[in-house]
Amino acid sequence: MTWKTEGIVLRVRNMGEADRVVTVYTKDRGKLTAAARGARRVRNRLLGSTQVFTHGLYLIFPRQGLHNLSQAEIIHSRQPLREDLEKFAYASYITELLDALTAEEDPAESVFSLLASALALAEKGRLKLAARAFEIRLMRELGYEPELYHCLNCREAVRDTIFFTEQAGVLCQKCAPQVPGSVRISNGVWELMKKLLEWEFSKLTVLHPAAGLEEELRQIMRKYIDFRLEYPLKSLDFLETLTAVPPGAD
Ligand SMILES: [Zn+2]
Repeated sequence: MTWKTEGIVLRVRNMGEADRVVTVYTKDRGKLTAAARGARRVRNRLLGSTQVFTHGLYLIFPRQGLHNLSQAEIIHSRQPLREDLEKFAYASYITELLDALTAEEDPAESVFSLLASALALAEKGRLKLAARAFEIRLMRELGYEPELYHCLNCREAVRDTIFFTEQAGVLCQKCAPQVPGSVRISNGVWELMKKLLEWEFSKLTVLHPAAGLEEELRQIMRKYIDFRLEYPLKSLDFLETLTAVPPGAD
């Protein structure tokens, strides 16, 4: 029996002298880990297709313990994500976040599509937009969808003075003091969150939020996601080091 499925490489580590162990998020079977024998040899046909961020068609022999990845065909190499430091940092964050929040072999085709779309957007240089859209949509896919219209506490529709809690949603002015850690959010960020969550992914490129709004959203999403993470992400340190210098295009 073999599995033939589209997948995107989330993580790669070396094994032995010439092998790689790759963690791939697949369309049909969710996240899985497989050995790619000889993948580090110069002329090996798995050399390119087992690099991090590669979107390919993979042939996998299921095994107890570690599966065996035996053939691959590249669909999108995603080479630009590995060649530019800032793109690499954002793509690493996206893949590490997905890895941290998902279990092995728990398939969700919508998560696969979201990952593919986010990496394609990052490749185009829309890094912050790709990261924020990925975050909020991934939370929805994983069952932590933020409530953006009705106060989580009293269920009344929120209007102009809006607070957000990491427990996934908005609070009205009256209820916010009862929920520790809730933060006031601007109406601009509230509108942006709704668009990032509800618009078709391909339409998001028309959004060009101001830098201040982007930063406000980044901080809110950070708290909201960290609330669900069991350990800090390594890629965040790298990203923060990079973004401490004047940012590039986006
Ligand atoms: Zn309320």
